Amino acid sequence: MRHFRFLSALLGVALLITLACTLNPATGQRQFSLIGEQQEIAMGREYAKQVQGEIGLYQDKALQAYVQKIGKDLASHTERPNLPWEFHVVDDPGVNAFALPGGYIFITRGILAAFNSEAEMASVLGHEMGHVTARHSVEQMSRAQLAQLGLGVAMVASEDFRQYAGLAQMGLGVLFLKFSRDDESQADHLGLRYLMRDNTLLGWLRSLWFPSRRD
Ligand SMILES: [Zn+2]
Repeated sequence: MRHFRFLSALLGVALLITLACTLNPATGQRQFSLIGEQQEIAMGREYAKQVQGEIGLYQDKALQAYVQKIGKDLASHTERPNLPWEFHVVDDPGVNAFALPGGYIFITRGILAAFNSEAEMASVLGHEMGHVTARHSVEQMSRAQLAQLGLGVAMVASEDFRQYAGLAQMGLGVLFLKFSRDDESQADHLGLRYLMRDNTLLGWLRSLWFPSRRD
């Protein structure tokens, strides 16, 4: 009986993996996802509210509008132009930028101060947008959910495992927090793609890469 339960649970997980693989619009690769676009957007919006509440936005309307405009222009060149893209500067002196699922991008006032040109800002925004279009967070969260399911299956199967399950579950959160190096280079690649599609930004990029050349 125990074996039957284990097998059917395992079959369920296998079926779920098969059904949950979708084609990613940005990378063209099959991707594991348990989270639909509407859910992705809803989660991002919720996290974005938390970020704004906890860190707070930098109080400079003109600057916020400027970052929002550069970001929105760039977003129109992505594979997911219809996401509710938002770009905000948070009131944090650290040098940081991050993307929430659904297209909510945040940069710190610290990183703004570190930029030497508009092109540098655009390339950071492009990189963060790459994380969104490639659905890196969604994939991570889906894997975490699957791992939880996998733990469930293992717990059904093994008494020993049940004892360690608490520990294993604790480790999961840490495991899925950071993007992998592959995700980072994919985001670089995608960000560059979006910049290349934007004529204004292309001009900025040229000036960044070939500062001595004037044409
Ligand atoms: Zn990144």
